[in-house]
Amino acid sequence: MRQAGSKVILLVSKVDNDKCLRCGGCVSVCPVDCLLLDEAKGIIVDAKKCTSCGVCVNFCPVGAFSLKKED
Ligand code: SF4
Ligand code: SF4
Repeated sequence: MRQAGSKVILLVSKVDNDKCLRCGGCVSVCPVDCLLLDEAKGIIVDAKKCTSCGVCVNFCPVGAFSLKKED
């Protein structure tokens, strides 16, 4: 989360499942356990639990994650 003026902007982890290798590593490293690997769909993020810590962004070997504004 970061603040811009008086507005609070919520960031959440988003994944590009076209890039995802289904390695499952991010599921193991997420400190709040909010990632799920679905072999067919790829990684599913539980946006309500994500703390925007960036661990998955730094971990993913193919750069599939980014932190974006919550929808
Ligand atoms: S670390 Fe990256 S490649 Fe591996 S499962 Fe997670 S999103 Fe996919
Ligand atoms: S940003 Fe942090 S809390 Fe959110 S999915 Fe990635 S590792 Fe988990």
